[in-house]
Amino acid sequence: MSLLTFHHRPLNLGEYPRAILHLDGDAFFVACEQATHPELRDQPVVTGGERGCVTACSYQAKALGITRGQPLYQVAKQFPQVRIVASDFETYNLYSQRFFNWVRKFTPEVEEYSIDECFADLTGLRRLWRQSYPELAQSIQRQLNESLGITFSAGLASTKVLAKVASNWSKPVGLTCIPGIQIHRFLRQLSTDQVWGIGAQTAALLKKYGIRTALDLARRDQTWINRYLAKPQREIWQELNGNSVLDIDDSRKTTYASIQRSKTFYPSTDRRSIVLAQLSRNIEKACHRARHYRLAPQKVSFWLKDDSFVARGIETKLSMPTNIPSYIVKLASTCFQQIYQMGTRYRATGVTLNDLQDDHQAQLDLFQQVVAIDQQRHLYQGIDALNKKYGQHKIMLGTTLAAYTSEMKTEGQEAKRPLLVGESQYKRLEFPLITGQVNEI
Ligand SMILES: [Mg+2]
Repeated sequence: MSLLTFHHRPLNLGEYPRAILHLDGDAFFVACEQATHPELRDQPVVTGGERGCVTACSYQAKALGITRGQPLYQVAKQFPQVRIVASDFETYNLYSQRFFNWVRKFTPEVEEYSIDECFADLTGLRRLWRQSYPELAQSIQRQLNESLGITFSAGLASTKVLAKVASNWSKPVGLTCIPGIQIHRFLRQLSTDQVWGIGAQTAALLKKYGIRTALDLARRDQTWINRYLAKPQREIWQELNGNSVLDIDDSRKTTYASIQRSKTFYPSTDRRSIVLAQLSRNIEKACHRARHYRLAPQKVSFWLKDDSFVARGIETKLSMPTNIPSYIVKLASTCFQQIYQMGTRYRATGVTLNDLQDDHQAQLDLFQQVVAIDQQRHLYQGIDALNKKYGQHKIMLGTTLAAYTSEMKTEGQEAKRPLLVGESQYKRLEFPLITGQVNEI
């Protein structure tokens, strides 16, 4: 059968009437870790040490059969050779920004689709770069690899939906181009639920009408499509046929997926209060950062690392989003029981604030708590202003204090605690600390 007679509807067969490139980081979180820690390269590596289950795995770890979400104790037992690291979302975010900015050197029309994915409109750029679209795609891909030390898979096609199909076609480091004339060759190998934007529900509906592959869908006529499908799916149908209807949203999204703080300290044995104080300090710093961006987490994870740097962590969901540290410290001290082991020498603690959302929105859900929360917010506006004026961390939670006093003792140095207002190096006041009214949340 000839390729061209295969379609009984007008199909956009121009090679690239529009040239959309989709780029997708290969095992992105792990790749960031490997780029910053060369000793992890080519190793089976998983991230997620802070929450107790696998968040991302390197291709070597995938080859062992490790999957996302798998509990880490299982991984450690079954595959002792696997390197387990805690997620470092700030680094991932930084790499993500660098990735988008690199692509913007080629075209201003870049859509930040997710932390490791973007769409770029290359239409009309062949002359400027003196390259064909596939060559241009390849240059971008190669330069990203050279500059970031991370590989990306790329897909080039005339629509966003097809470009996404293409980038997923050959991973890792693949470049797949779908010119108009070859669209059907890709679509017939793809089930409908593998198409970006088609969920399980729609796939089930399509199946009832005998539509199993993306090609079956693309070949339905417009009358049928208009009758049975909603607008978003009708747009997908257009895009599968090579007619570009989805625009590139090139606004910059400065979302912080997560905020993380951790710090290494002098190993401490059986000093539960000191380890907890270190964690409390990290929580205060992370919350400060969150308030700065007016964000509040919906999930929080805490972890401890012992002196062989094995991480043990726990993730917990808040009953409401908040960036007030006293609430989170209270929660941390409850979770702490489950991860702290007597007799272990701890070297570091850390906290990650996950699923961040706008903190104004966060306050709306809670009727009974409004007054208490509002008081806390005012209090922290004042504290943030004071800390800004007199230097970071002049005012801290009582629970954090031991982190500073322990450093004075263990390191035998001059006190590290910052001077409070009215203090000098020779005269230190007792601590006028905010202990924070902690309410159940
Ligand atoms: Mg990816």
